[in-house]
Amino acid sequence: MTNTISHWVDDEVFAGTSGADGVRLAPVTNPATGVVTGQVALASVADAQTVIDAAAAAFPAWRDTSLTKRVSVLFRFRELLNERKDELAAIITSEHGKVLSDALGEVSRGQEVVEFACGIPHLLKGGFTENASTKVDVYSIRQPLGPVAIISPFNFPAMVPMWFFPVAIATGNTVVLKPSEKDPSAAVWIAQLWKEAGLPAGVFNVLQGDKTAVDELLTNPKIKSVSFVGSTPIAQYVYATGTAAGKRVQALGGAKNHAVILPDADLDLAADAMINAGFGSAGERCMAVSACVAVGPIADDLVAKISERAATLKTGDGTKDSDMGPLVTAAHRDKVASYIDAGEADGAKVVVDGRTVQADGGQEGFWLGPTLLDNVTPQMSVYTDEIFGPVLSVLRVETYDQALELINANPYGNGTAIFTNDGGAARRFQNEVEVGMVGINVPIPVPMAYYSFGGWKASLFGDSHAHGMDGVQFFTRQKAITQRWLDPSHGGINLGFPQNG
Ligand code: NAD
Repeated sequence: MTNTISHWVDDEVFAGTSGADGVRLAPVTNPATGVVTGQVALASVADAQTVIDAAAAAFPAWRDTSLTKRVSVLFRFRELLNERKDELAAIITSEHGKVLSDALGEVSRGQEVVEFACGIPHLLKGGFTENASTKVDVYSIRQPLGPVAIISPFNFPAMVPMWFFPVAIATGNTVVLKPSEKDPSAAVWIAQLWKEAGLPAGVFNVLQGDKTAVDELLTNPKIKSVSFVGSTPIAQYVYATGTAAGKRVQALGGAKNHAVILPDADLDLAADAMINAGFGSAGERCMAVSACVAVGPIADDLVAKISERAATLKTGDGTKDSDMGPLVTAAHRDKVASYIDAGEADGAKVVVDGRTVQADGGQEGFWLGPTLLDNVTPQMSVYTDEIFGPVLSVLRVETYDQALELINANPYGNGTAIFTNDGGAARRFQNEVEVGMVGINVPIPVPMAYYSFGGWKASLFGDSHAHGMDGVQFFTRQKAITQRWLDPSHGGINLGFPQNG
């Protein structure tokens, strides 16, 4: 085990400072083999401060760099990323476990945000009002915040950071990215790509670590905003701590996504969609469907169609020809499997059992096959908790209203979908459902980069979603200017409030 994954600061690898016990390290594992492939440095407070200081030092020059120059770096970054995305996908698969095609898909969805950010000169345009008062003009500009922090989860080591940093950098901020300690290498690869693209040193930095690093980012006065994605309890903590320290915070949390299948739906389409959304990336997606709500008499047919398809899926090493890879760690695999045990004990029917999967991968890999549970009820822990694994629960209800009530009563509100051939029903659902992202005959409705990504309720704390115009607004502060140049009429001394004329 020789590979140490360190911080990246000022365009160089930064090993971190040794405390009394040396640099703190955590193992990084290939989930398909169970083999420890490296060790990641876990920042001390002093390390975090070194990285934050570098971002702060780089800010004044980057803030004043012209939009033309900023955008030329972004275009170059986009080209390099596009040419070399296979390399990044391979890194993701080796530490996360998702299959290569899925890793490539993740990079492509992140690249969309880079492309969106290439249009920043247009998006940053302010307003101008001539002669708001006689010979007085009013206009507005948007300015960057300063050094900003991005704290990301293990399940999208490239795409989730890319929801934020292209827009943050394009708008003139400098960045400290704190990736998940489970798959830290993608962030360093991205940092090297920025260097190659010509981004000045200190504008994009990587801080490896755990709670120590996060807490310093949340409280250090030099950090002006925090973009967090992860589980709900940590998102809540990040939001409370960061805002108490006076920072702008957007904290995206966990999910429990429902898909409603109405009786008139195309059941083959719906069954395909449940397979893709339930088991893609081994269910480790915040937009995965984990609760399939079958409405009316179609439940038996739907369960049969999903189970036929699930039986054909190949679970194995993501570098081989597999449909689904392993879970991220042994502990997570065991936790997900324990939810299947609990569901069974609570009376759910195990239609497809992933606990007995024969995977095409290392014996010590963290395997769990696709699992389909039927007759799940809202009281079971397999329904109430976010499982984050390849477990699809079918809940049976009689009416559309019962399906809607189930979703709206759920504490999470990230994504949802409805499958139907009835446009009126779909339109009603889009209007009534209390969820941030809605798919109509689309199981994973991740918005394009020029819309914004974000859930409702316990799936997002703060009022700003990721990327799109929300991203531009989040990473800038607005300034309104009132000016008078010609024929200034001083009007003498007047202590009254300024009025227009
Ligand atoms: P996590 O909450 O365990 O970790 C997220 C980040 O927080 C990591 O960088 C981690 O190092 C840090 N962290 C962990 N514990 C911490 C603590 N006690 N104090 C401070 N920082 C801490 O999440 P995860 O397991 O890496 O990712 C999976 C979760 O992320 C799921 O709940 C999933 O739904 C969610 N997620 C949500 C979205 C979304 O858009 N809403 C997208 C992707 C993932």
